[in-house]
Amino acid sequence: MKTIGVIGGMSWESSAEYYRLLNREAKARLGGHHNARSLMATVDFADVEALQRAGDWATLGTLMADAARQLERGGADIVLLATNTMHRVCASIDAVISIPFLHIADPTGAALRAAGVERVGLLGTRYTMEQDFYVGRLRDTHGLEAIVPDERERADVHRIIYDELCHGVVDEVSRDVYRRVIDGLAQRGAQAVILGCTEITLLIGAEDSSLPVFDTTALHVQAAVEWAIGA
Ligand code: GLU
Repeated sequence: MKTIGVIGGMSWESSAEYYRLLNREAKARLGGHHNARSLMATVDFADVEALQRAGDWATLGTLMADAARQLERGGADIVLLATNTMHRVCASIDAVISIPFLHIADPTGAALRAAGVERVGLLGTRYTMEQDFYVGRLRDTHGLEAIVPDERERADVHRIIYDELCHGVVDEVSRDVYRRVIDGLAQRGAQAVILGCTEITLLIGAEDSSLPVFDTTALHVQAAVEWAIGA
């Protein structure tokens, strides 16, 4: 089994979920006492969050590249970045490692296409919903049209991620907000919804959604474990 390197800490609430799911997935596939071989390089989210707000993506690129290098030096065979948002700077990671980088949007895009989806709703941070790095990847690599909530809803979706989920707070009122946002996307023709932030899975499951849910955390983990065990 190959060793999966994870850049974590964004936030650690979702990194803990990555760790749990990586091991659960490896055990489900290999049985017995198996778990995933893994390394995690955890950055301090306080630094990351402040740099995001300042729009300093260049420094964030350097931070992510340093963490990826650490993982490669430590013996990782592949690198995962356990946040959708920070894929904005994934080119900085690719540029400094010689092992593969598994882009979070790729297993998600492939799963959507396999399900016959063409128009998909996207939930995530403002950066993910509003900038082109994610929507563009879905369009150019996977031929998917991604639609996002309106301005007021995007503000709510973003606030709930940073003020609640990244602190481990899972609130019923916020779950209702997300449910309504998903209903709105369905009315606008979305055939499915991407949980395009690695913490949303803590709040929303298939049972909470009027649309089929594509959870980036779970899909990223599954693809990584498949790769690591050579499936
Ligand atoms: N984990 C989140 C994501 O998937 C948001 C936290 C961050 O800004 O990295 O986008």
